[in-house]
Amino acid sequence: MTGGRARLTFLGTGTSQGVPIIGCKCEVCRSKDERDKRFRASALVEYEGLTILVDAGPDFRMQMLRLGISHLDAILLTHNHKDHTGGLDDVRSLNYVDRRAAEIYCERSVLEDLIREYPYVFKFPKYPGAPEWMLHVIDERPFIIRKDSSDKELVWVHDVGYHYRLPDGQLIPTARSLDDMIDEAPKAVAASSDGSTASLRSAPPLASLRSAPVPPLTVPRVAWVEPARLAATAPSSDSERSDAGSLRGTPLSPPRGRRGVDSVPVSGGTIVTPIRGLHDKLPVLGFRFGDIAYITDMSSIPESEFAKLEGLKHLTLNTVSYKPHHSHFSLDETLALADRIRPQFTWLTHLSHSFPVHEQFSQELKRLCAERNIHSVVQPAYDGLVIE
Ligand SMILES: [Zn+2]
Ligand SMILES: [Zn+2]
Repeated sequence: MTGGRARLTFLGTGTSQGVPIIGCKCEVCRSKDERDKRFRASALVEYEGLTILVDAGPDFRMQMLRLGISHLDAILLTHNHKDHTGGLDDVRSLNYVDRRAAEIYCERSVLEDLIREYPYVFKFPKYPGAPEWMLHVIDERPFIIRKDSSDKELVWVHDVGYHYRLPDGQLIPTARSLDDMIDEAPKAVAASSDGSTASLRSAPPLASLRSAPVPPLTVPRVAWVEPARLAATAPSSDSERSDAGSLRGTPLSPPRGRRGVDSVPVSGGTIVTPIRGLHDKLPVLGFRFGDIAYITDMSSIPESEFAKLEGLKHLTLNTVSYKPHHSHFSLDETLALADRIRPQFTWLTHLSHSFPVHEQFSQELKRLCAERNIHSVVQPAYDGLVIE
């Protein structure tokens, strides 16, 4: 596997409702142990100079505040369930302080769900203050994240909204169409001998991959009415300020220049390896960074993916209950996987209140691993735990 050493901080280790659960009076939900207070599942990964977030659920805001985070190079989404994407509106705060759009990496199916569920993010011209996202489409092939992918400064113009500042000082709207917000993440060449070479595959048009059409949110026919206060720095060409018709197809989209397939260099960047799994019948992705693999919300892993999990130091696995579950691993399944994959450490996440309080659960796992001769140290993760 390519890549250097990674460091992962668990920001949330709870199941979809979190722990404690609203209204529940069980022993776990009433526990005073901080390790029994679990935000929705999320992890912060520091890897090759990048700060990467995996999933941004409803607790995203508190998770960022708790660690004092003001910059993210990338947000990777495992799948589109609200406990993993429900906090994406709150990237607005990072947009403002970091002066960058949020760089979000997800599968095409997740992207289409986001377009439906966050329509205001994809409306053009944008409502002032709506979140600024840049979406990079990935699949189960290794892909590349670049440190400099956010090289356009986001400028907040009061009452008008975000603009990009171009090198010559010109301010232009951040996006005029879906094309300005979406690209295909560059893929790493799996056969690369030195790990440094990358190749690029261009994406087919968004709507062509599925029989279901992309929702009717591609609204490029709306004219951008240039605010008077921007007149001094705005494009001077009459054709760029006239009616909607003349805006269609104009090469004004700032992100294309830096994100477009033709402008991305084919080497450098950090390679992340996705791991395909199924969450019941829903395809989801886990991610490997160096010798750490973060897997959540899976109930099965195809045989073809196990090669990506060889030689791990740390593995996380979602484990929701003792009993079999239709969309998550049960404890028995997790222990069997830990024994098969054999990372040095296996950390359980997406935990529910059906397990005992943390300390008791930890002891129980030690006993079970000894009894079953499991070839990995299996322990419950907890919010704030750092592994490297
Ligand atoms: Zn979940
Ligand atoms: Zn409870």
